[in-house]
Amino acid sequence: MNASVLMVGAPAFCDRLIQRIRALSDRVVLQASNFEAALAALAEQPPALVVIQASNVALWRLCTHIRQQRHLRWLYCLLFDDQTLPPSDADQTWLLHHTQRTIQALDQGADAYLWLPDGGIPPAVGHQGKPLAKDRRVGWNRAFNAHLKKAQERWQTYQELSKTNDLLSAIALVDSLTEIGNRRALDWELPRQIEAVRQQTQPLSLIILDIDYFKVINDTHGHLVGDEVLKMFAERLCHHLRCHETPFRYGGEEFVVLLPATDLAQSNQVAERLRHVMARDPFATNRGVEVSLTISLGVATLRDGDDEKGQKLLNRADQRLLRAKRNGRDQVVIH
Ligand code: GH3
Ligand code: MG
Ligand code: MG
Repeated sequence: MNASVLMVGAPAFCDRLIQRIRALSDRVVLQASNFEAALAALAEQPPALVVIQASNVALWRLCTHIRQQRHLRWLYCLLFDDQTLPPSDADQTWLLHHTQRTIQALDQGADAYLWLPDGGIPPAVGHQGKPLAKDRRVGWNRAFNAHLKKAQERWQTYQELSKTNDLLSAIALVDSLTEIGNRRALDWELPRQIEAVRQQTQPLSLIILDIDYFKVINDTHGHLVGDEVLKMFAERLCHHLRCHETPFRYGGEEFVVLLPATDLAQSNQVAERLRHVMARDPFATNRGVEVSLTISLGVATLRDGDDEKGQKLLNRADQRLLRAKRNGRDQVVIH
């Protein structure tokens, strides 16, 4: 797939370049006339190549800015000069000027500095006054194509890398046994939900639940049956939650459920329903073993003074879970 090119500069500059690029390649060319418009275009969808009008010195900082942004750092930036040189001694002046500007451009974070033929150099300029426009144009086309190829390669590498990163992030947040969110996912999700419910002045409740005497299940039937029970337990948990109620595997045989827009009385009902459905039917494993179990649950609701990460909320629910265990298990504690 061909990525786009973003032109940044005065309309006349952009139009001239766009014509040339269209003659060379069929890719989408976007335009921005100033720094802010360029940032907006980059935020929408990063192109493979950014071409900046070098005669507008205010635009040079765009290269620096791009290099400072983690998600844009890979972008290929070309600084294009379209300044007209004085006719006398033009080739030497051009060489000196070109070298200096190339160094400046690289310092600013650009990948290269190019001169725009015709737009900058009058056709009459050359050795003994002979026009060099055609040669320059051919040379320019080849140079531009080489840069475009490099930009496309870099864009492709970045696309593949970000796909891999997305996959790795997703894997890092999912528990491999039960395929629900893990503790890291909860650490990430809980502050987000706290912020959202506080903005909407809605309640947020949290349930911590733990399988009673799970060690006995492992000891009696073996770890593989224990694993299978945990898997089926998570499936049953998901099945009995509504779509906005999110379960996480918090630890070995311990789970957390986040209940946005749910007060303490409503979350108590959810907790009692879960306690009931887990104990009602045994878990029939593929190894021919049927395992019955009960769970203990601690429920807490977000308070105004709670921290934004949700540690106090989690601790309160955890204390109530401990009380449920101490009081004889197979029960919900909400105070
Ligand atoms: P309690 O009612 O106090 O919670 O008793 P318990 O036996 O459930 O609690 P305990 O903390 O003593 O033991 C938890 C057991 O859960 C021990 C551990 O080996 C087991 N466990 C934790 N993670 C896994 C897992 O992924 N697979 C299996 N099969 N067992 C696990
Ligand atoms: Mg347990
Ligand atoms: Mg436990």
